[in-house]
Amino acid sequence: AYQGRLLELRGNIRVLCRLKPGSSGNLLNVDPGPGGTVTANYRGRQRQFHLDRVFPPDATQEEVFRELEPAVLSCLQGYSVCIFTYGQTGTGKTYSMEGPPEDPGIAPRALQSLFREMGAQGGPRQHRVTVSMIEIYNETVRDLLAPGPPERLTVRQGPEGCGGIHVPGLTCWDVSDLRALHKMLNLGRRNRATAATHMNEHSSRSHALVTLTLTTAPPPHGPGTAGTLHLVDLAGSERVWKAVTTESSVGVGAGARGRRLREAQTINRSLLALGGVMAALRARQPHVPFRDSQLTRLLQPALGPGATAVMLVQISSRPEDVGETVCSLKFAERVS
Ligand code: ADP
Ligand code: MG
Repeated sequence: AYQGRLLELRGNIRVLCRLKPGSSGNLLNVDPGPGGTVTANYRGRQRQFHLDRVFPPDATQEEVFRELEPAVLSCLQGYSVCIFTYGQTGTGKTYSMEGPPEDPGIAPRALQSLFREMGAQGGPRQHRVTVSMIEIYNETVRDLLAPGPPERLTVRQGPEGCGGIHVPGLTCWDVSDLRALHKMLNLGRRNRATAATHMNEHSSRSHALVTLTLTTAPPPHGPGTAGTLHLVDLAGSERVWKAVTTESSVGVGAGARGRRLREAQTINRSLLALGGVMAALRARQPHVPFRDSQLTRLLQPALGPGATAVMLVQISSRPEDVGETVCSLKFAERVS
């Protein structure tokens, strides 16, 4: 049965790539469209990467969402869907996932699309929608929607819980309409910001995970379904040495530098673990290393039978970013 589950998931990991607008030079060439290719000229070598789809710098938020909408709506049929934004800090992960208010990204568009569809299917009374919001910072999991101060949580294994995640004490709110849902998400964002001394740094080093569950009420004829949507804005994927060299150049103490290095390593570890899990699933390996990080433990139930995972890899063509871009593309290649 387990083999069967892996087979089923194998076809459902899609890797997309979005190139941030900005200066290009000739270090990076994209051949956009379905089955797109990115060619990188790096250190005198030319490397080609093949992806399920490449979005050129002028792609709109709407175009990106259109690609994801069928997966998002499949949650209403009881499927589990994970959407990730991956990449170096500053390449547009949050822009793609959240977007500015005047040009919303994947998350607000997904919520709108889901509520519109639920409306068309006989009104929100037919559905129960719950939301939870989690942050993982330095392998510490915090509940961003707790009524009190954000609580530290422990991830357990087990089938129960919000969105299949078994995290005792995780707050899960019922939301009956789009406005209530947006209110919750704003609360979560505020909770995230309040706890952080340096918000930009904090957000680039932490993973933010929004989970929606959509349960259809069992109609007189037939059982209800429960689908899950995980929207994950991942921590920046830049390598450890960068964190260290930046620190030492501004002359902070060894203690702070050590702490930074530790942070960078844990972030790297959970991104690495995610790559390892997805690669293992794609390669049908019998052992999938879910337990290697908090992020992959949390998402283990979400990557079960019939699940869909979409990885949106954000890249930049600025000459100083090309090294990181090649790393991100290697990651993309590994999981696709
Ligand atoms: P990340 O979350 O990966 O660190 P951000 O989403 O914060 O990166 O993006 C960094 C900056 O680049 C922001 O000012 C953002 O508005 C801008 N940006 C990123 N992608 C785009 C895009 N496709 N179009 C316009 N601006 C973008
Ligand atoms: Mg961000």
